[in-house]
Formats: sequence, structure tokens, C-alpha cells
Amino acid sequence: METSIPVARAQEILTSYPFKWVTEEIELEHAQGRILAENILAKYDDPPFDNSSIDGWAVQLSDSPESRIEIGTIFAGSQPIIQPLKPKEIYRIMTGAPIPLGADALVMVEDGMQGTPRQDYIRRKGENISVGEIALSAGNVITASSCALAATIGYSTLPVRSKLRIAIIPTGDELTELGRPLESGRIYDSNSIALASLVRKAGAEPVVIKPIHDNKESLHQTLNRCAKEVDLILTSGGVSMGEKDFIRSSLIERDAAIFWKVLMRPGGPPIFGHWNGTPLFGLPGNPVSSQTVFHLLIVPWISHPDIFHRRVTVKMDDKLRGAPNRLCLRRVQITSSGNGLIGRSRTHQGSGNVRSMVLNDALTLIPPDTNIEAGEFVDALWLIT
Ligand code: AMP
Ligand code: MG
Repeated sequence: METSIPVARAQEILTSYPFKWVTEEIELEHAQGRILAENILAKYDDPPFDNSSIDGWAVQLSDSPESRIEIGTIFAGSQPIIQPLKPKEIYRIMTGAPIPLGADALVMVEDGMQGTPRQDYIRRKGENISVGEIALSAGNVITASSCALAATIGYSTLPVRSKLRIAIIPTGDELTELGRPLESGRIYDSNSIALASLVRKAGAEPVVIKPIHDNKESLHQTLNRCAKEVDLILTSGGVSMGEKDFIRSSLIERDAAIFWKVLMRPGGPPIFGHWNGTPLFGLPGNPVSSQTVFHLLIVPWISHPDIFHRRVTVKMDDKLRGAPNRLCLRRVQITSSGNGLIGRSRTHQGSGNVRSMVLNDALTLIPPDTNIEAGEFVDALWLIT
């Protein structure tokens, strides 16, 4: 087991445990947000035929503008005219209509029939993409525009990675299920709801388990059951130095831990290993820690960072304290001014303060042993909510 490793090392270890993705075909209508499983090659040229980008006339450059004679009208959707134009003949043409054989330029309707012809008003067959070219690359997130491109080049479905099933197991004697009254000494289980949303956003299917007590037997029973049913187990809580931190102690006792503790703050004590052959990632219980670890370690492993954040550089409006020997993820709010992005951090930064994730929208990437003064620049992950 490796311990106290840098974030980059933890990411490297995780990606060396790839999932067995199955490919499934999905209707374009439902493909947005999924991850493309294969490269997509154009089946049709775009555009599939030379056509007009304007409403106007299809003319011949060799004719003088004064001699033009209109012989008909071509609408979008009509069959291409293959009877070559004779000298002086022109067609009235609408946007998207096929260029008649012999026409080599277009005149805009606004310029009148004797207006100046331009060749670049013709949209040439295949000028955007031609048959066989890669239109979309495997591993990328499918967006509204990529669905539109897929449709344009002849697809009605796309091959996507199947959704991983991910168990979410909150642990802790203090946890209360949502909807129940809050007794003294207890808190609501807020991590399950955050993690389920993040898992869904990652394109996976959450299987949320009710909070379980800090009791070895019930924990092991739940893990045994989940290990048979899911592709990945995410737990929350029970990974640090507490006497009832049974996720950590059970994995280490079984010699099933691969790494424990990552040099980041918040989110220092995550543990990664396996339970009966199923990967198990133990997230810390503190709500901010569990979310930051999800963003930094789980997202690049199971999903695609583009879905979750943009890496940006911001100029800080106030100073930020870093952390000794650790990457420090302070929560900041980003606003864009005329001179770039400005970061502000006005909330209490405790790892238990989930409100700091609501009032702010970015996580700083302050290098180890570094403080940021007001006016200095810092990299940050600007979260896409
Ligand atoms: P632990 O990692 O189990 O030591 O928990 C660290 C802190 O996170 C404690 O204050 C817990 O009460 C809190 N915590 C643990 N699990 C959850 C949860 N599911 N929802 C909200 N807070 C939690
Ligand atoms: Mg606990």
C-alpha cells in the first residue's frame, strides 16, 4: 500500500485500474452527456451536394451582369438540375437549394439580378467534413452540437460507454436518513445525495444504500452484497484515524488497500482498494472533502473532466492560505471582469461547511507550501454546475 501520495500519483494509480466498459448504441435524442465509445467517421459529406448559402441567383461568371436571363427557380429540397446552363441563363435560387450544373457563382437577392457574383456563396460538397473523416473522437463527452454533427453525417444512434453502476454507502453512527426527525447528537446524511448527483452527472448509475452504522459486521455484510452487484463501491466516512473508522481498518487488515491518504486539503484521508475483487474507493466523511476528492480523483477515472470543470487562472481579490506539503483546494467565487477572471473567497473554509460549496463555484489548486497574496494569480477548477 502506498501512503500520503501526491494527487497526480493517485490519479495515475486509479487510471491503471480501468473499468470494463461495454459499448451500447444509444438514440441521438438520449446521447447528450454520455461518453463516446468509438471514433465516428462521416458516412456522408457535409454538405452532401454543392448548394446555395443565400437567397439570390445562380449565375455564370463568364456572362456580363446585364445579359442575364432568369429561366426558373430552384428551391431547397428540389432535385439537382443536371441540364447544363446555356450562356446568359441564370436561376433564381433559395438558401440550401442545389447549384444547377454550369453555374459557378451566386448573386444576393439584395444586390438585384445584375449584382456582383461571388463564388464563396456556394457551399461546396464536403467542405465541412467528407466521407471517412473522423467527426467525433472516442472518449469525448457528447454535446448538443456533437449530436447535430452526428445527425448531419448520417447517424441516428451513437456507440457510448455503458453506464457504470456505482454503490454509494454512507457510514457513521451519527447519520440520519433524510425525512426523519433530527435527534440530538445526529446530523443528516448529506453526502449520499451529493455523491448520487455527481455520479449521475458522470454518466453513471448510482445505487444509494441507506446509512450504515460504524459496526464492522454490518459494514462487511453491505460491502459483500454490493461487491457482487456493482462496478465500483464508493463509501463515505470511516477512513481516517478514528477508532471506529472501519473502512480504513478493514481494507488494511485484509491487505486490500492500494493507497491511503493523498496530499490534498481538504480531502486528505481517502483510501482506495478492492472488496472481493470490486474496486472500493473510501471517501472522507466531511462533506466538502468528499466532493473535492470526487472532483479530483474520481472524475478523471470514471468520467471526463470537461463535464465537471474548466481549468482557469484567476486573479485573487483577497489572500489565500495554502497548506504545508499539500495541494490546497480553497473554495472561491469567480467573476469575469473586463481584465479577466477575479477570484474571491469570503466564506469559512472548513471541510465540514458544505455551504462553502454553494456560495462559491471554484476550487483553487494552490501548490504545496504556497500562500497567495491579494492580486496574485492562482489556478482553479471552475465547476460546471
Ligand atoms: P468520518 O470521516 O467518518 O470521520 O467523518 C468526518 C466528518 O464528516 C464527521 O463530522 C461526520 O459527522 C461527517 N460525515 C460523515 N458522513 C457524513 C455524511 N454522509 N453526510 C454528512 N456528513 C458526514
Ligand atoms: Mg465516521
